[in-house]
Amino acid sequence: MSNGAAPSVADAIRAAADRLSPTSDTARLDAELLMAHALGVSRSRMLITLMREEEPPGFAPLVTRRAACEPVAHILGAQEFCGLDFAVTPDTLIPRGDSETIVEAALEVAPSASRVLDMGTGSGALLLAYLHENPGAAGVGTDASPAALRVAQTNAERLGLAERAQFHEANWLCEGWASDLGQFDLVLCNPPYVEDDAELDPDVREYEPASALFSGPEGLDDYRAIIPQLGKLLIPGGLAVLEIGAEQAPAVAAIAHESGFETKLRLDLAERPRALILR
Ligand code: GLN
Repeated sequence: MSNGAAPSVADAIRAAADRLSPTSDTARLDAELLMAHALGVSRSRMLITLMREEEPPGFAPLVTRRAACEPVAHILGAQEFCGLDFAVTPDTLIPRGDSETIVEAALEVAPSASRVLDMGTGSGALLLAYLHENPGAAGVGTDASPAALRVAQTNAERLGLAERAQFHEANWLCEGWASDLGQFDLVLCNPPYVEDDAELDPDVREYEPASALFSGPEGLDDYRAIIPQLGKLLIPGGLAVLEIGAEQAPAVAAIAHESGFETKLRLDLAERPRALILR
């Protein structure tokens, strides 16, 4: 840094990464993403051409927010998922890399489903990523939260999928509307599955909706509510792909077997159980 001048983008990123490293496992990446946002350019363009420019004034407040554990996705208002750019607000879970396993599994076991239901759709990530890859499909996303449904609708429009995606306010029982809409080839669901007393990082605990995370003492309450509904929602031979916590495979499989389903497990990139396929 030269005398009196603002630090360069490169120096400011380095300093921010140091500041964020006690509270973030991805401090350098966070700093780069926040800087690209402050500059109003993509991260790759910043890294290639702008590292010697002066730090823009908008950067420091973003780093201060991140240092208080606010998720980068909330600060940017966006999160990439399955190669698509999703709008994100505090009203939904931030789409996670782990959940891409659900979309991959669905595309593998039901590549040409024509009617898809995403229960507890949140940002719409699972449904919209599936619809994007399967142009022959149309789908419905449900959520108990009207604020979440507005985020999902925004995402459907922004990804050019609004003509194939509808959103409905509903609880797990899908009371009222399920019989009107008929049955589905494929049900996707990433329910809340965290144990009530689990210790979560402050990024998650303080900034993401508890209603999308916690599910009773064993994290299984929502599976117990959802799985018995699947029979009436699926066509004969239809499939459901549920996200599960890494330790939950045997318990969720047992709930599924009680409802008469056969199950198959799929691992995430870290080779942990992540998706349970019900047939
Ligand atoms: N995998 C998420 C977490 O650990 C939990 C997601 C969920 O409950 N559906 O933060």
